[in-house]
Amino acid sequence: MKADQFQSPDYYNLDDLLSDEHKMVRDAAREWVKREVSPIIEEAAQKAEFPKQIINGLAEIGAFGPYIPEEYGGAGLDQISYGLIMQEIERGDSGVRSTASVQSSLVMYPIFKYGTEEQKKKYLPKLASGEMMGCFGLTEPDHGSNPSGMTTTFKDNGDHYLLNGAKMWISNAPFADIAVVWAKNEEGRIYGLIVERGMEGFTTPETHNKWSLRASATGELVFNNVKVPKENLMPEKSGLGAPLGCLDSARYGIAWGAIGAAMDCYDTALRYAKEREQFGKPIASFQLQQKKLAEMITEITKAQLLAWRLGVMRNEGTATSAQISMAKRNNVEMAINIAREARQILGGMGITGEYSIMRHSMNLESVITYEGTHDIHLLITGADITGIPAFQ
Ligand SMILES: Cc1cc2nc3c(=O)[nH]c(=O)nc-3n(C[C@H](O)[C@H](O)[C@H](O)COP(=O)(O)OP(=O)(O)OC[C@H]3O[C@@H](n4cnc5c(N)ncnc54)[C@H](O)[C@@H]3O)c2cc1C
Repeated sequence: MKADQFQSPDYYNLDDLLSDEHKMVRDAAREWVKREVSPIIEEAAQKAEFPKQIINGLAEIGAFGPYIPEEYGGAGLDQISYGLIMQEIERGDSGVRSTASVQSSLVMYPIFKYGTEEQKKKYLPKLASGEMMGCFGLTEPDHGSNPSGMTTTFKDNGDHYLLNGAKMWISNAPFADIAVVWAKNEEGRIYGLIVERGMEGFTTPETHNKWSLRASATGELVFNNVKVPKENLMPEKSGLGAPLGCLDSARYGIAWGAIGAAMDCYDTALRYAKEREQFGKPIASFQLQQKKLAEMITEITKAQLLAWRLGVMRNEGTATSAQISMAKRNNVEMAINIAREARQILGGMGITGEYSIMRHSMNLESVITYEGTHDIHLLITGADITGIPAFQ
């Protein structure tokens, strides 16, 4: 793969809206991605392997639990710093960002928000340092967009719970040390349980043959009469709102992350268009190529403003789930469109692993589907503005 020459576009001087801390956190993540991710990511994606050697580095840049308080091992940063870290990581690869998102928003967040003090002390510092990795099991083979129909259950069996069922499409599952699993009790109420690798009856078969997020490990979680200690139930919140609260945090991170992928595609295409000559001129001098590039920077700028404003509202605690849905949906669609256009600017070279664009393009096909599909987020906006849910 070509050397990483990335230069971040900032057409509306959005850096002026960031604090010194935001810029410091962002720049540290950017440098780390250039140094540790860019040189190895193409090979990892080709081999369909998660590059485990970057786990320590992810922890060092604060990517595991950026906004979890320092007393639990987190970085104690605000929501904009969290977003900027996700942007920079996804600039490198959506699969790597997925691993960080899951660890932060889908494993550390629920333990922090819904867990007991003992659970927080036991798990959060190790998750923050990368000593322990986690995954999040909500989706099931027969329940994706409609997780409320889940059939994974746990029942009281004296001094422990007995967990049965299966989860599918679970990021980090093949190597995770713990899984935050959403299941129904005997009354049909959803709770989160912390399941540890090694518990009898718990297996995590890997999902193969993916053309997308190849540098992220995906698998199933299978529970066959797994005895889960009672102290592993997270008691502070139950019902579908509990996993949805985690998804709000992860979707917010994706709204930023997708900008990173789009910026990388734009920057690559702009540089290529200025260097590549056809008909005796750089292809950047042709109006059709300029149209593509001009539209890209316009869309990136709009997405940056959306993410930044959402970050301010997240910091204030006023952002609604529907507002987060809008940003996730808009920014991922923006990125996928830019990846497709950018690939065309590179002509035949665009389909090779010499450049990052095709990998981003394929990765974004997962990003547009997971954490709520593109259509489901549109229905969430529709329900919010009309007051009429159109899901059924
Ligand atoms: C690489 C990858 C990693 C993932 N990681 C995780 C993870 O870590 N943890 C986890 O729990 N899940 C994970 N997922 C699962 C992901 O969240 C689901 O794939 C997603 O929620 C969609 O569910 P589904 O695939 O079952 O699609 P379905 O729900 O079957 O949807 C299929 C199509 O029908 C549409 N549709 C569904 N319902 C409606 C409706 N009411 N109205 C209109 N259209 C509708 C959808 O928009 C979609 O286009 C991951 C998925 C992928 C691909």
